[in-house]
Amino acid sequence: MQAKRTHVSIFGFLIIFLTACTLQPIKPEVEPLPTVVTVDLSAVDDLPATDNPSDESLILTVVYTNDEHGWMVGQEPGAGAANLAGLWSEAGYADDGALIILSGGDNWTGPAISTWFDGQSMVEVMNAMGYDAAAIGNHEFDFGLDGLQARLSEADFPYISANIRYKAGSATPTDLGIQAYRVIDVEDLRIGLIGLTLTSTPKVTNPVNVADFDFIDYEMALREIVPKVDAEGVDLILVPAHICTSALIPLARAVADLGIALLGGGHCNERYAEEIGEIVVISGGDGFSSYAYATFELDATTKELLHVDYGVVENQDGPENKAVAEIVARWQVETDRELNVVIGYLDADVPKRSNLMAALITESWLYAYPTADVAITNWGGMRDSIPAGEITMAAIVSMMPFNNVLVDLKMTGAQLQRVLLSGRGDPPVGGIQLQSGQWILNDSGLPIESDVFYSVLVNDFMYAGGDDLTMLAEFDPNAYDTSINWRHPVIDWIEAGGSTVEDPLDAAIDALRK
Ligand SMILES: [Zn+2]
Repeated sequence: MQAKRTHVSIFGFLIIFLTACTLQPIKPEVEPLPTVVTVDLSAVDDLPATDNPSDESLILTVVYTNDEHGWMVGQEPGAGAANLAGLWSEAGYADDGALIILSGGDNWTGPAISTWFDGQSMVEVMNAMGYDAAAIGNHEFDFGLDGLQARLSEADFPYISANIRYKAGSATPTDLGIQAYRVIDVEDLRIGLIGLTLTSTPKVTNPVNVADFDFIDYEMALREIVPKVDAEGVDLILVPAHICTSALIPLARAVADLGIALLGGGHCNERYAEEIGEIVVISGGDGFSSYAYATFELDATTKELLHVDYGVVENQDGPENKAVAEIVARWQVETDRELNVVIGYLDADVPKRSNLMAALITESWLYAYPTADVAITNWGGMRDSIPAGEITMAAIVSMMPFNNVLVDLKMTGAQLQRVLLSGRGDPPVGGIQLQSGQWILNDSGLPIESDVFYSVLVNDFMYAGGDDLTMLAEFDPNAYDTSINWRHPVIDWIEAGGSTVEDPLDAAIDALRK
């Protein structure tokens, strides 16, 4: 038997813990934003009121995650998908009323256990966790439209987005399995679910994969779709959105007249819970490390909203849900079978998005493709550290989870300088180094000259205009697609090092920085 009241004390404890926790830095590919942790402390006092509703009220709890990024095993021990599902059961949401589980998107791209299988494992996990809908995130396009369509067909829940439209004809791409909205009945409530997707998606997934689509204005999409949902007689409208709170909060104000009850966020990995006017805006963190919730109490007859609680809860100390744990364990075995191949040894971590990691990636490209002078990658493509100890294939897949290839383009020194100055901070570049403000070629020791042409390797995400690098295709419209997967040179370079426990690879990687 589920102890219905246990979640009151658990929330109290988790809320105290949450205020002390440190958050992951926001990924550089997104706008730098302050991450806000807001916990409604009044929820502790208010819970008894909603916990034992009178006969005249209905309770609906929405639990919300976003930017899961394949972290079914958890970013920390005990903080995986199975623990989260266990926490939800323990909280008794489904016993006390209706429960809806939503995701704000970016479900699949991440560690090898998800990426190696193009997210198939993650869909199975989210099916078992009981998700009711997910917004389409920019990274849902990472495995191409075939990959997207395959995953959406395997999901037991709809993937929704009201603002992705075919450029030709402006229809929602339902042929791929994307729905603008879905109406579902839970207990005695009829709920409208509308998805939204980042309008800047072409800059933050491989633009080739989304070339057929427009990502139309959020408010315009809602003003078009909400009346259709209302026409189906819904009691509440919930909008899971792959949008950072910096854009979601003004959106909440702009659509205050539409009767939306909840806007959920995504993309910026934020933990957030606030009421903006009469709309609850929540974001659940990232990688299953936490979740946001909103509990609505409605009059059973009129369906009028009487009360709402909301907050963010750390994924900690959750009892494992057995069914979810078994699925994760099965995919771990499968991942290990395919990828637990040791290719080298490290004494210390190569930290995510470090200069060390940039040197390892770009210099191994030049090692594999020696006719190129310079190699440039993007910080956003480095998704995980390489842990100390045995270096496995799985670690390299987790570090570089996207299926990019290398592109060789010709550009002048002046154009190269523009590319190097275009990003935020130091560019992750190999083959050249900055000496007294001047870029010097490592091989020849000669300075980069403005009017000389150089051969430059980039990844195809960059060449397609990702990270605002549309200048690359302008500089060389006829660049050569090498078809070399961007991970393979890294794997080859590490294997060629022949490192062992006694003779680890650390010094050799450090030497790549010159
Ligand atoms: Zn995203």
